[in-house]
Amino acid sequence: MIIVLRPDATESQIKHIVERVKKLGLKPMISKGTERTIIGVIGEEDVIRVQPLEVFPGVEKVMPILKPYKLVSRDFKRENTIVNIDKNIRIGGKRIVIMAGPCSVESKKTLSKAARAVKRSGAVVLRGGAFKPRTSPYSFQGLGEEGLKILAEVKKETGLLIVTELMDTKDVKLVEKYADIIQIGARNMQNFNLLKAVGQIRKPVLLKRGMSSTIKEFLMSAEYILSEGNFNVILCERGIRTFEDYTRFTLDVNAIPAIKNLSHLPVIVDPSHATGKWGLVPAAAKAAVAAGCDGLLVEVHPNPEEALSDGSQSLIPEKFNDMMKEVRKVAEAVGREI
Ligand code: PEP
Ligand code: MN
Repeated sequence: MIIVLRPDATESQIKHIVERVKKLGLKPMISKGTERTIIGVIGEEDVIRVQPLEVFPGVEKVMPILKPYKLVSRDFKRENTIVNIDKNIRIGGKRIVIMAGPCSVESKKTLSKAARAVKRSGAVVLRGGAFKPRTSPYSFQGLGEEGLKILAEVKKETGLLIVTELMDTKDVKLVEKYADIIQIGARNMQNFNLLKAVGQIRKPVLLKRGMSSTIKEFLMSAEYILSEGNFNVILCERGIRTFEDYTRFTLDVNAIPAIKNLSHLPVIVDPSHATGKWGLVPAAAKAAVAAGCDGLLVEVHPNPEEALSDGSQSLIPEKFNDMMKEVRKVAEAVGREI
């Protein structure tokens, strides 16, 4: 349920309503918009019948949110959410944010090389997994904390911000220390304990769509994070499983405008995992930008042949640079900038 306040509602009226909501055993979540404040109320709503909230001064109307996701929904917050990564980098505004780098952190040398190259082409966030969720237990599992330290060194060297994956609740503090954005991978989209854990911190979270998850399930997972109090969530479409097996996954371009309609959260796209083939990545990236995404997450490796993971979908720096030139043109055509 949402309580829509009158535009002239005072702070003390808001405080009073919040206290009443809490007394009823419900959880109030305040969203201050440019025009008016909305209070989202989470919990068993039947109690409202006994205590109608319309009567409180400052309340304009009380409306049910019929969708299963509440805080994530556009009904709760009409304006786009802009996630501030640092004072210069914000996701969800006019600027499309480019995140790029290797699939895994492999060594200081390769990461540094990739970082300097992607920065030259316009990336502002460096990607690289230290904890890798691999299909096979015999594949490279990532460097762990050593990988995080390498990310920190390269961040210092280049000024790029860091997005890196968290796989286990026991590592929240560790990854939080090194990451500017914590990635929750597709395979963990419904790891509810992990979602709750990142909900309890305030670090931005990049939540990737599960490869077999519907848009509704994806939004319900985001709801777990917001319901714990962390509103700094970026959604990432990364391709879904279909009958088509020529590509690794199928980029669900529809999901971009659909999620933007349903939710106020920013949506970014990973064209690398969505296609699995480096030659298809630029076209998928351009389609994503044309469809209205707020950012891209792209795998770039200085020497894909030697990559310890996902070499076949990794662009060499030159190809990434060429792609960025085209992506910029598409961004401009749809009224965005990079
Ligand atoms: C990744 O970004 O390297 C990754 C493992 O992605 P996903 O979780 O989307 O498969
Ligand atoms: Mn990868």
